[in-house]
Amino acid sequence: MLNVPPGAFPAPSSQQRVAAGGRAKVPLKPGRSLMDWIRLTKSGKDLTGLKGRLIEVTEDELAKHDKKEDCWICIRGLVYNVTPYMEYHPGGEDELMKAAGTDGTDLFDQVHRWVNYESMLKECLVGRMAFKPIAAPKDISSILSEEKKQVNGMVSEKNVPGASARDLTPSYDWFQTDGLITIVIYTKQKDMNAELVIVDCQDKRLRGEFILADHSYLIELDLDHAVREDLDVNIAEKVGKVEIILKKKDNVHWKVLGRPLESHNTFIKRTDRGLFYRKCKLVSKTEVTHDTKLFSLMLPKSTHLQVPTGQHVYLKQIIAGTEVVKPYTPILPSLTLDFKQPSCHDGAHIYLMIKIYSCGLFTQALDHLQIGDYISVSNPEGNFKKSQVQTSEDLFLLAAGTGFTPMVKLLNFALTEVSCLRTVKLIFFNKKEDDILWRNQLEELALKDKRFEVQFILSEPTKDWGGKQGKISLSLLSECVKRSRKDSKVLICICGPTLFTEQGVEYLRDLGYSQEEMHAFTA
Ligand code: FAD
Ligand code: NAP
Repeated sequence: MLNVPPGAFPAPSSQQRVAAGGRAKVPLKPGRSLMDWIRLTKSGKDLTGLKGRLIEVTEDELAKHDKKEDCWICIRGLVYNVTPYMEYHPGGEDELMKAAGTDGTDLFDQVHRWVNYESMLKECLVGRMAFKPIAAPKDISSILSEEKKQVNGMVSEKNVPGASARDLTPSYDWFQTDGLITIVIYTKQKDMNAELVIVDCQDKRLRGEFILADHSYLIELDLDHAVREDLDVNIAEKVGKVEIILKKKDNVHWKVLGRPLESHNTFIKRTDRGLFYRKCKLVSKTEVTHDTKLFSLMLPKSTHLQVPTGQHVYLKQIIAGTEVVKPYTPILPSLTLDFKQPSCHDGAHIYLMIKIYSCGLFTQALDHLQIGDYISVSNPEGNFKKSQVQTSEDLFLLAAGTGFTPMVKLLNFALTEVSCLRTVKLIFFNKKEDDILWRNQLEELALKDKRFEVQFILSEPTKDWGGKQGKISLSLLSECVKRSRKDSKVLICICGPTLFTEQGVEYLRDLGYSQEEMHAFTA
C-alpha cells in the first residue's frame, strides 16, 4: 500500500525546491547552510535573549512568542527560541511557524523524528515548561495509542492496559547454567523472525528490542555481572519465543539478572521508542561510480541486527561539535555474485551505497572516515511490508539516482523468494551514463533471470546514448509500466528525489493505478 496518504505530498510552492535530503526544501540564502548554523551556535552569541538563564515557561508565556521575529516552540517539554534559526531551517520559515508559540512535539515527530534537535538547538534553549509532567517522555506512552498528551508533549499518565492489552503484552523470564545466562522472551506473536529482534550488549548493559507489528517491546538492564562479547539469539518462529543467550565472563552464580533501566519491560508504539545507536566499524570503502561509494560497516559482535528489506537506518556523526543524523538504506554487497546465497544475509555487516555530494555536509564527513574508524548506526525504520510483494504478479521498480538503494534488497527478495512473480522490471533514471549504479550487475542479472528486465533512462545523455532518454512523465510511464495480463496483480515501488517520487505517484494515479498498487519510499 502507498505509504504516503493522499495529500501528504502537497505540490511544492514556487519557492520550494528539492534537495538531496528527500523532503521538499526551500532555497536557503547564502550563508544559511547547516554548517553556517553550527558556526553561529559556536560563536558565543546569546541566541535566546536570556543571557544564558534558563526559565520555567508557562503556557500563556509560550503562546505570546508566536511571531517570526519572536518565535518559541516547545518540543517534549523543553522550550526553544527558534527565531535565530528561522533562516537556516531547510523546510523553510512557514513550516517552522506552524508550531510557533505552541507544543510542536507531534509536528516534529511527524516530520523530523530522527533529527537531534537537542544538539542542533541547544543554544536556543529557553527552559522547561512550568507544567510538571508525571512521567518521562516518549518511551512511557502506552500500548494502545490513546495517550493523553498535554501541552508539553508528555504523557499525562501511564495508561494501565486493560485485560486484553495485558494479554498482548510480551513477558520475559531467565535462567542460568554454570556458563550461560538465558533470557526467554514470550512475544505472544507468531511468525517472529530475526529481523524483528534487535539485541545489543555493551559492557554490562543489555538492550533487547522486539518489533511486534507497530509496537515495540523492550528489555533494558544493567546486568548483574560481566558477559562475553559474543551472544546468541534463538528464535522459535512458530511460537514467538526468543532466547538471548549470554556467556558469563566469570563462573559465578547470578542472584538477579540485573538492574532494570528506565524503559525496561515497556511495550509501546514503535514510533514512540527513541532511536538506539551502536558504533560500527568502517571496514571497507569502494568506488561504485565517479561520485558514489560502497561503505561496509561491521556491527559489534554483541549486536544482533538485520535490516529488513525496504527499511533504512540513520547514521550519526558529530560534525563541528554538533550531532548530525541522515538516513541511508542498507543494500547487499552485490547483486550477482552472492545473489541467492544466504551468506549475504548474515547480520554482521551493513552495506551502504552512498553518493558523495561535493557540497554535502554529511557525505563529505563520511568520505573522510578512514578504514577502522567508527560511526553510529541506528535501529532500522520504514513502513515497507514484504507481504506487498508476496501477492504480486508484476513488480515495477522506479528508481532515480541513489533511490536505487531500497530496490537492491527488494530485487533479491522478489527474485529469490516470491514464486508468484511473473515479471520484475527496474526503470532506472539517471542523468548520465556514468551515473548508473551497478549497471553491469543489473545487466548480468537480467541475462540470468528471464523474469527480470532493466531499462535505463537518462536525462542528460551524450549523443552516443542509444537508450531511452527523458525525465519521468506520463507518456514515459504509460509506455514502460504495463501489466503482463489485463488483471494481473501489480506493485509499483518508487524512490528518488522527493519531487521525482511525488510526480511519479501522480502520473501512476493518472494511469489508473490504485494506492494499494504503489509504494513510495520516503523518510
Ligand atoms: P546536504 O548537505 O544535505 O546537501 C546535498 C546537496 O543538496 C548539496 O549539493 C547541497 O548544496 C544541496 N542542498 C541541501 N539543502 C539545500 C537547500 N535547502 N537549498 C539548496 N540546496 C541545498 N543517500 C544515499 O546516497 N544512499 C542511500 O542509501 C540513501 N538512503 C536514504 C534513505 C532515506 C529514507 C532518505 C530520506 C534519504 C536517503 N539518502 C540516501 C539521502 C541522504 O539521507 C542524504 O540526504 C544525502 O546523503 C545528502 O546528505 P549531505 O548532508 O551530504 O548533503
Ligand atoms: P540525481 O543524480 O540528481 O538524479 C537522478 C535522476 O532523477 C536524474 O535523471 C534526474 O533528472 C532525476 N531527477 C532529479 N530531480 C528530479 C525532480 N525533481 N523531478 C524529476 N526528476 C528528477 O539523483 P541523486 O543525487 O542520486 O538523488 C537521489 C535522491 O534519492 C536523493 O534526494 C535521496 O534523498 C533520495 N533517496 C531517498 C530514499 C528514500 O526515501 N528511502 C533512499 C535513497 C535515496 P534531472 O536531470 O531532471 O535532474
